[in-house]
Parts: sequence; C-alpha cells; structure tokens
Amino acid sequence: MEITHIEHIGIAVENLQEAIKFYENVLGLKCYAIEEVKDQKVKTAFFLVGQTKIELLESTSEDGPINKFIKKKGEGIHHIAFYVKDGLQQALDQMNSKGIQLVDNQPRKGAENMNIAFIHPKSTNGVLIELCEDKS
Ligand code: ZN
Repeated sequence: MEITHIEHIGIAVENLQEAIKFYENVLGLKCYAIEEVKDQKVKTAFFLVGQTKIELLESTSEDGPINKFIKKKGEGIHHIAFYVKDGLQQALDQMNSKGIQLVDNQPRKGAENMNIAFIHPKSTNGVLIELCEDKS
C-alpha cells in the first residue's frame, strides 16, 4: 500500500452550521462544500488547509455513528484519513491477510466522490483510520 498524504481529518460536531462559523470567522478558512452522505448518516462540511482537508461531521440520525461517538466521547477528532495511491481494495485485502481488524472489508462510497474504508481502532492504537482513494 502506498499512502501519499493525509487526505482529511474528520471532526465530529453537534451542529454543523455553528461549527462552520468557528472555522470561517475565527480561523479564516472557507467552507467550499457541504454534502450529505446517506450511507454514513452524516452531513459533512469541507475546508481546505494546504493539501489536507478538515471534514466536519454532523449526524443526520439518532442511530448514526457520529451521534454514537458524540454520546460516548463528546465532540472532537473522529478519524484521520490517509490517501491511498495504488488501490484501496488491495490494501484492504493485504491488511485482512495480516489479521488487521477492519470496519470495511470492501470500499464504500464517501463524500467528495471518494471510495473509503475504515480500519478498526482496536488494530490502530485507538485511532479510527480511514483510507480513501478517488473513485475510478
Ligand atoms: Zn472522512
């Protein structure tokens, strides 16, 4: 697997509109996209910081993963996403064969027209890691 950069950092927030205000008015960043990802029951807002994005995540459902996360841990960093250059499925297969615990054995659809898959925090020292690639 070849990881080229941190694609984005995902941050769980209770209220997307309120959180956007902080990033725009205090940090001076510009929200360039708001997108709902039905698959993951989230609404996302994106900011570009150099090559890396900040992805704010608001739950759209009581039983969504972001709502569960906030209930358990409060708002904050939810995941780190690495960009995989040479094939996400192969990377997942490789990790599977090494006994790494995955959340997704196959890529699924994420925001920003990406294929994504999560590695389970049990295998990553407690960090939810997302791998992503451009949808081909
Ligand atoms: Zn993400």
